[in-house]
Formats: sequence, C-alpha cells, structure tokens
Amino acid sequence: MRKVIHFLKRVFCPAGSCQDQGYDNSSGQPRVVARSQHNLSRQNISSNCRKVLHHLHAGGYQAFLVGGSVRDLLLGHEPKDFDVATDATPEQVRKLFRNCRLIGRRFRLAHVFFKNEIIEVATFRANENDKRTVSKDGLVIRDNMYGTVEDDVLRRDFTINALLYDIKKFSIVDYVNGLEDLNHGLLRLIGDPATRYREDPVRILRAIRFAAKLGFRIEEHTAAPIKSSAVLLRQIASARLFEEVNKLFLSGYSANVFSLLLQYDLFGLLFPATQECLTDPMIHLMVDNFLQVTFSATDERVQLGQSVSIVFLLAAILWPPRQERVIRYEAEGCSEQEAKERASLETLSEEVDIIEIPRKMHHQIDEIWNAQRYLEDRRGKRPFRMVNHPRFRAGYDFLLLRAQADPDLEPLAQWWQAFYEADHEQRLDLIQKLQRQKQKGPRRKPRAVPAQQD
Ligand code: ATP
Ligand code: MG
Repeated sequence: MRKVIHFLKRVFCPAGSCQDQGYDNSSGQPRVVARSQHNLSRQNISSNCRKVLHHLHAGGYQAFLVGGSVRDLLLGHEPKDFDVATDATPEQVRKLFRNCRLIGRRFRLAHVFFKNEIIEVATFRANENDKRTVSKDGLVIRDNMYGTVEDDVLRRDFTINALLYDIKKFSIVDYVNGLEDLNHGLLRLIGDPATRYREDPVRILRAIRFAAKLGFRIEEHTAAPIKSSAVLLRQIASARLFEEVNKLFLSGYSANVFSLLLQYDLFGLLFPATQECLTDPMIHLMVDNFLQVTFSATDERVQLGQSVSIVFLLAAILWPPRQERVIRYEAEGCSEQEAKERASLETLSEEVDIIEIPRKMHHQIDEIWNAQRYLEDRRGKRPFRMVNHPRFRAGYDFLLLRAQADPDLEPLAQWWQAFYEADHEQRLDLIQKLQRQKQKGPRRKPRAVPAQQD
C-alpha cells in the first residue's frame, strides 16, 4: 500500500504537492491534469474502447473514459472493463454504431459489441434532486434524467470512481478531488455520506469492496454513518444483494472483505445465522477459523487464475449454522437423515430471504453438504462410487477445506487425496488397509463442533 501511494505521489505531483498546482475545486471548475503529469497511457485502454471514444467525438459529441477503468489504470491495475460516458443520448449512440444495442429500463444504456468485448456507453446522468423520484426513506427509486458531465460526475459514488479521461487531450479531468484521494489511498463518498447511503444503501457494501480490493482506508466521514445506515440494506432487493455478495467474495479479496464486514457490523446483515455461530462462545473460534481458511483458499485460487464458485463459497459460509441445526434436531430425537434434510432446507430458505440464491444452487449446495457424509463412509465399494460421482470434486475440495481448519479430519482428507490420485489396484489396496485398521482400532468419535461435523 505504501508503495502504491509513493508511486502515485511521483505520478501526480512530480513538481511538488497537488496544491502547488493551484487546484481549488470550490470554484466548480475541474482540475485538468495534462499527460505529462499523470501515468495513464492510452495504450492501456482497449483498442475497441478507443474506437468508441474517437467515433463519438467524430460525431460531434463529448465522450470520456469513466469509472473503475480510469481508477484502475491510474493505479497500474488492469481494468475489468471499460466504460464510456457521453452527452449523446442512447438513440444517438445507436445511430452512430451499427454494432450497438440499447439495454436497461430504469436507465437506458448503449452496449457497443465487438468480437470479445462489450463497451458500455452511458449518457451523462442528472444529479439534481428535483429530477428524481425519492421514497419517504430517501431511497432513489427513479433517476432517469440526462444531465451534464458535471452532473454525471457528482452522482457517482466515490471520488476515486469519478475521474474522467479525455482521450482528445490525453488529460485527466477531476471535479471532485479524486486524484488527491487516490494519492492518499482514501475512499471518500461524494456529497453527504449519510444521504448517499440512504439514496442507495448498496454503496455501503461498495465501500467495503473497494477498501478490501484496493487496500484503501475509508475516510472518516464516509465511515462514520456506516454502522447506523447498515440496516437500510434490508430495503435492497435480494437479487441485487446476491450480485453484490458475488462481487464481494469472488474478486480475490474475500479475507479482507470478511474482516471489514465484521468490523462494520455488516456480516450479520448478510448472513445472520452464521453470525450467530460466530458469537457463540462455545464454537466461535472454530467457526472463525473455518471461515478464515475458506476465504484465504478462495483468494489464493483467484490469484492463481483458478475458477471459484459462489455455490462452494455459500456452502462454506452456511455450513456452521446448518451443522448447528443438525445437532439440535438430532438431540431433539430426529433421525440423522431427517435432521440433515430439515437443517439444509431451513438454513437455505432463511438465507434466501436476504440474498436471492438461485433455486438451482440450493440443490448444489446441499449436495456438497451431503457429500461430507458419503466421504466419511468408506465401507466396501462405496469409495469407488463416490469418486465417480459428478459432484465428487466439490465435496472432496470441501472436505480438504474442513481438514485445514480441523486437524482431526486430516487423516480422512489424506486418505481421499491418496485414493483420488491412485490407480485401480492402489485404490483396492487402500480400501483393504482401511478395513484392516478398522478391525483393529475403535471408530473415530463423533464430532461435537458444528463447523467440522457431518
Ligand atoms: P469494478 O472494477 O468492480 O467494476 P467499478 O468502479 O467499475 O469497479 P462498477 O460497478 O462497474 O464499478 O460501476 C462503474 C461506475 O459507476 C463506478 O466507478 C461509479 O462511478 C458508478 N457507480 C456504480 N455503482 C454506483 C452506485 N451505487 N452509486 C453511485 N455510483 C455508482
Ligand atoms: Mg466496472
């Protein structure tokens, strides 16, 4: 982090501090940083995006590269995608590009299609309150009016997400002091933070996501209302929360996200049942350890370019409360089968009220949970059936994760690892050895801790 800030200081303020350059945003004039004073090279902008920007200019319109791509390029990161903002209306954009489709109902956007890329072109949006429909809680329910470039900048969330790149002059245009914040590693909401969270509570989760991803600090006024505003997240459609949960946990920074969500009392709003396990004095250390291991393993996979699945991750996050229920129902006299079925069903349906986990995923999550029992039961030819099951891999990976958090499960995980990698003869041998061991020694005691039991 310190290195990044040092790098940015060199990049933006080569001749001294930014104040030395006479910038003052109280005048309403943007700070324009010339090419010689910043490090954003247009060579790092996709050629398709450059074409779109130039074509809009040739059509007589304003057009800027905006949002996360400008931020990421200035930080020396590779942007996920490139977004363009323009004063051309969506219909005017469509007329300019043959390969263009308009999408969105609440706010129309143009998608310009290329072979391997879609460039999103948005018309500048208005920011004036009188052009919006606001509910009695302050939540913006409609804001589909077009505005000026400055309006568009001011309606964005964080100052570092509101920088513009002007490809004609190769300059950065900054209306909100975003360069200073980028320089200092600060995440600052534009405008009054409490109002901005009320307008769109998802900005709370976005603050966490960007702080975790960029290693930035949430500026104190931006951080101050988070805890008191968090309850507003309950107003957000569960489908949108599911999208945000995907972004939070699958971007390669889930361990940081988890600790920030705990720090700001937000984790319990997304996963109340898991939060309860985290505060249970009997099991909180085990649960915390299991979740830490899960998030670190997920981040490692992302960093190695391996695939990560939200099904697997949700199975892990919801495993402690599911197991806690299994134990409770068994203690109440349910059969093992009945206890597991009820526990899975209830854990998932409770969570779906908060984040809309698609139906087909419920079954996949439950399969990972159920696989844990089959992996423990290695009698006769069962391991052969298990290893050929289409869902074996996910169940097996889940067992490896559990074993990382619970040394008692290590022998089981090691046995499966050996079995998985062995040929047919070696597998028969492994099963025979196991049977001999079982005849000699006692069975493993049933576990008493939810995060590790099945
Ligand atoms: P990422 O790299 O994760 O895509 P991003 O900054 O590009 O980060 P997006 O969700 O793609 O994030 O949004 C693009 C831009 O739109 C943001 O940079 C921000 O300027 C604006 N934006 C997105 N969501 C909001 C919001 N809820 N409120 C205000 N502005 C927003
Ligand atoms: Mg983006």
